[in-house]
Order: sequence, then structure tokens, then C-alpha cells
Amino acid sequence: MIKTRKETKSITEDVVEDIICNKCGKSLKDSCDMNYEGLTEARICGGYASKIGDMLELSFSLCEKCLIELFKTFVIKPSEVDHLGWPKDVQENQEDERCCKPTDESNSL
Ligand SMILES: [Zn+2]
Repeated sequence: MIKTRKETKSITEDVVEDIICNKCGKSLKDSCDMNYEGLTEARICGGYASKIGDMLELSFSLCEKCLIELFKTFVIKPSEVDHLGWPKDVQENQEDERCCKPTDESNSL
């Protein structure tokens, strides 16, 4: 039998306060401050004799604005999967309705 007693403990731990884009230095939080949008904490690791660095691991985040700029430089565009299956114009209207803050702040990126 395990005999227990009540004990109050104070715990200090790291919590995510924000995720910052490594390219532009801006937050990845959406206009509602509820979710992060973009590429969060991507990790790449150079192998032996890699140009990135011999067995060096890098981690970084990119906001959507910087991702869009990066995609424009691609010779081969990224593959797309439309998870909603809706036409593009319906998706754009949906995005406008889900924002909870004025568009001024959402355009600040
Ligand atoms: Zn950025």
C-alpha cells in the first residue's frame, strides 16, 4: 500500500510566449493571437561534409509573409493540397470572416 499526503508545490517551467520569424523578426501569431501561422521550428541537419555544416543541426521559424516571398523564388513551386476542397474564392472569404481584429493589424506584417 502506498500512503500519500497532500503537498503543494511550485513549478517553474518554460512556456511558449511567442514564436518569432528568423527572417523578419516578427511574431508568427495570427491576428487573433490564438494560433501560430507559418513554419514553426523547422529543423534541418547537415550530414557528414555537408555545406550547411558537418553534422550541424539548425532550427528556425518563418512567418507566412516570408514563406510567400521564399516560394516566389522557387523554380519548382511547392506542391499544394487543398484540405477544404473549396474553390479559391470561397477560401479567401472564409479567411476574412475568421479574423477577430481590425484588418489594420493583420496587414502589419
Ligand atoms: Zn517573417
